[in-house]
Amino acid sequence: MSFTIAIDGPAAAGKGTISRAVSEHFNFAHLDTGLLYRAVGARMLGGEDPTRAAETLEITDLERDDLRSPEVAQAASKVAVIAAVRAALVDFQRAFARRSGGAVMDGRDIGTVICPEAEVKIFVTASAEVRATRRFLELTGKGSVGTLDEVRARDERDMTRVEAPLKPADDAVLIDTTTLGVDEAVAQVLALVQARLDG
Ligand code: C5P
Repeated sequence: MSFTIAIDGPAAAGKGTISRAVSEHFNFAHLDTGLLYRAVGARMLGGEDPTRAAETLEITDLERDDLRSPEVAQAASKVAVIAAVRAALVDFQRAFARRSGGAVMDGRDIGTVICPEAEVKIFVTASAEVRATRRFLELTGKGSVGTLDEVRARDERDMTRVEAPLKPADDAVLIDTTTLGVDEAVAQVLALVQARLDG
C-alpha cells in the first residue's frame, strides 16, 4: 500500500522533528526533500551549473557533510527558485512518495505541487522569533540553520518565488508550534494520520 504524509512549512518550524517522529511511529520511509535542494546548492557553490547539478544528482550528493551549513542553506533557496531545477527533482520525489509501505515527505511544496493527492497534509508554522531561538534550531536537527536574518531571507525567497512558492495547500491542517511543544505537535499529527489510516 502507498500512503503519503506531506509535511510542509518554513525553515526551523519543527517539521523535520515531527516528520522523523511520525515516520518512526508508523514505520514509514522519510524523505527530507530540503536535502535535494541543499545538494544542488552545494554543487553550485562548487562552481557547477545548478540545473545540470539537479539533472545529474546522485545519492552520494545527499551524503555530503556540508549540507547543513548556513551557506548551503542559502544556496539551496537560491537554486530552488529555478524552474528547471525543481522540474529535475519531481520524479524522484513522487516515486519516493508512492513507494509501498508509506512515506513521510517534508519540504515546502509537497502538499501543493509534488503530492497534491497526499493522504495527509500538514503545514507546520511558528513565529519567526521562535524559529530563530536556539531551542528550535536544535529541534530541527539540522545543526545551525543560520541567523534570524538568514532564516528570514530564505523564507522570504521561498514564499515569494513564482515556482512552487511556500504556502499551505487548501486542505492542509495547520500546526503552529509557537506555543505548542514538539511532543504535542507530534501527538496531533499521529492522531490525524491514525484517523486517516482507520478510515
Ligand atoms: O528544508 P530545508 O531547510 O533543508 O530546505 C532548504 C531550502 O530548499 C529551502 O529554503 C527551500 O528554498 C528549498 N526547498 C524547496 N522545496 C522543498 C524543500 C526545500 O524549495 N520541497
